[in-house]
Amino acid sequence: MFNLMKTKAINLKKVKAVCFDFGNTLADNDALFLNGSIFAARKMCVQLGVVWDPFRYFIVSQKAVSIALRKQEKIYGNIPASELDSQRSGEMFVETFCGQLLALAGRKPAPALVKKLAAAYYDGLARSNCIYPKTREVLYTLKKNCKLAVVSNNPVEYVLPPLKASGLDGLFSEILVSGELGLGVVKPCQSIFNITMKRLGVEPGETVMVGDSMTDDVYGANKAGMISVWLKRSNNRHQEKLRGVCRPDFIITDISDLLHIFSNNLAGGDFSKTSAKLVDVTSFGELPGEKKVKSI
Ligand SMILES: [Mg+2]
Repeated sequence: MFNLMKTKAINLKKVKAVCFDFGNTLADNDALFLNGSIFAARKMCVQLGVVWDPFRYFIVSQKAVSIALRKQEKIYGNIPASELDSQRSGEMFVETFCGQLLALAGRKPAPALVKKLAAAYYDGLARSNCIYPKTREVLYTLKKNCKLAVVSNNPVEYVLPPLKASGLDGLFSEILVSGELGLGVVKPCQSIFNITMKRLGVEPGETVMVGDSMTDDVYGANKAGMISVWLKRSNNRHQEKLRGVCRPDFIITDISDLLHIFSNNLAGGDFSKTSAKLVDVTSFGELPGEKKVKSI
């Protein structure tokens, strides 16, 4: 059963480009980070000459992730997006994580060793096989009809190597990663969307943005005048509450639902027999607590 929701009349025949967020939209963040952290833990064991079983790799690396995330939140949690250095923030997380990993193994975080573990972490990201099922066929189908792009807030190492390893990187006309673009070029700021559209040579009304984040992807895209698609990956109540404020043009629960949104406008595929229905959002009424959400 599809959960495909259309909130206003949109001429999809005009669409010339579809942009995708990366983490939790094209790629499973859990698979990505888990692989990175376990690769770092394995490297540590090799360096220290100790032998752990896979369960211990998992438990210790996840504990180190948890501590590093808390430290990260303390430092970067209240920095506005426009002032955020995504690359430095990501690097700091990896350094903290590797230091914690060594501390949990009873060793001092010697800089040279931290550097080696960080390299192993990034290697793990690249080899994570993190692309969600069905993503490949959706991208190949859309590519026949329009330009594709990736617009991500992540550091470079979290996007480019896994995309290359998946063999999907060549499908995208543009891959914009905040970590590479520099300070403040971060979703939901307008700059990153405007750069994307300029590079693609398209207008806002001709561009679709697909992402799992109500604030970064949906709100940002709407502010830039793009057509927004919220990919609802989980029952995240916080994201759900923001629906009334951020107002996605479409809501889908699976990336393949994108093909149903474009069913009348795609070449090379017959999606006319789909059971998906476009439903006017007003028929759903207000969500519990939706009216209480303040504008952001
Ligand atoms: Mg995301």
